[in-house]
Amino acid sequence: MTKISDKNIFTATWSYDKAPESTDHVKIKDQYELFINGDFIKPDKGKYFNTINPADNKVISKIAEASSTDVDKAVLAAKNAFKKWSALSGKERGKYIFRIARLIQERAREFAVIESIDGGKPIRESRDIDIPLAANHFFYYAGWADKLSYAFPNRKVKPIGVAGQIIPWNFPLLMAAWKLAPALATGNTVVLKPAETTPLTALKLAEIIKESGLPDGVVNIVTGAGQTGAALVHHPGIDKIAFTGSTAVGKYIQNAIAGTSKKLTLELGGKGANIIFEDAAIDQAVEGIVNAIFFNQGHVCCAGSRLFVQESVADLVIDKLKHRMNSLLVGDPLDKNTDIGAINSKKQLQTIKAYIKIGLSEGGEIYQPECILPKGGNWCPPTLFLNVSQSHRIVQEEIFGPVLAIQTFRTVDEVIEKANNTPFGLSAGVWTEKGAKIFHLTQKLNAGVVWANTFNKFDASSPFGGYKESGFGREGGLHGLKPYVKFD
Ligand code: ADP
Repeated sequence: MTKISDKNIFTATWSYDKAPESTDHVKIKDQYELFINGDFIKPDKGKYFNTINPADNKVISKIAEASSTDVDKAVLAAKNAFKKWSALSGKERGKYIFRIARLIQERAREFAVIESIDGGKPIRESRDIDIPLAANHFFYYAGWADKLSYAFPNRKVKPIGVAGQIIPWNFPLLMAAWKLAPALATGNTVVLKPAETTPLTALKLAEIIKESGLPDGVVNIVTGAGQTGAALVHHPGIDKIAFTGSTAVGKYIQNAIAGTSKKLTLELGGKGANIIFEDAAIDQAVEGIVNAIFFNQGHVCCAGSRLFVQESVADLVIDKLKHRMNSLLVGDPLDKNTDIGAINSKKQLQTIKAYIKIGLSEGGEIYQPECILPKGGNWCPPTLFLNVSQSHRIVQEEIFGPVLAIQTFRTVDEVIEKANNTPFGLSAGVWTEKGAKIFHLTQKLNAGVVWANTFNKFDASSPFGGYKESGFGREGGLHGLKPYVKFD
């Protein structure tokens, strides 16, 4: 419904009325325990931490904090379960994974609401992107479970053993699905650690896993912060670590397991280049810029946080972009009209604010639309910076927020050089009507994924991962099976 505050329809200011998603169907407990060996158990030291709603900073639930003793128990459960699980036929394993996928679909609305309450992302995104893609991953890898001999022809593949999987807070359920589905399809057992600010959907997933009848101990979920993650990384019973998170923690993990036989995949930070050529469909490209940087409040490792616009269309693109930013709605994550929800945590908001200050002190020209931010939670308006160059920190460093750094270019070679001038190599986008230009750039850009005339598109069948400080190993697609198998 729209309201009109002026009698003249042509000069009236239109605004959206509230369109809240209902929450009465959602069951969130006051307290959550650890999921170990098919049971919900209390933490050894009896410690709990709060998970907070970033839209109002109120406590949602108390979450068990796993100590190293709890991690021991979880690893032991996974080790004990490995023998039987890895000996099951691929077809049987697939049945369980299909069941988990279907149960996620059945509870999709509940998952979407919890994801938005716990993490701050707009319900439109959790409903239409996070949850369907999570189910998509389980469906996709369920299909591979009995076809591994086709995935690796003429090779005899074996699972690795117990996988320790550590995930971040920006796509909580989706990252759990990215990690669990290929590990299970290939016959591994798992200890998963969700991020401390967004544990709820993983714990909901634990309920579904129990309901699916998956044998006890095949998936264990231990909640906690960095210390719990470190206990998992250092545990001698772990055969493989899969980590998605910050580059700093990724480096720490790589150091920690150096010299052991543990296998490792790392999906770390990014500073994606989004490149707009003068021959692009400009209005479409402007939507693409918005999606590239403001999707999920910019809490996206593959966000298009560096925009490169060809000089001849720079004024036009920037004008249109500012105009579009004026209409973005920042606010209640549970409102179906919201474009930009709450920043995931107070800590992350401080980081983003600090970078905005750095951008200003380095001489960047800022633009933020006027918007009334709700009170009580963590909010940041969509932000862009002009007058920045390659050496600016906001151009080089990952901000992980809705902050875009804009530069211009004249030639193809120039933009390739600028786009590659970063320690990261996760994603890039190219907007042009010329297919040849797209193919040229996709070969020259050092990025794990290059989107053409779109951005931030994901599919379970498509591999994802980085180069340089963005990490190594691939998740998704046929490539995503490889880190979970060894060859005879
Ligand atoms: P951010 O800085 O954006 O919160 P992190 O890389 O710290 O990102 O978090 C990603 C995941 O890594 C989270 O689940 C977090 O608890 C975990 N983590 C943080 N520190 C460590 C560590 N030292 N060892 C293992 N896991 C860690």
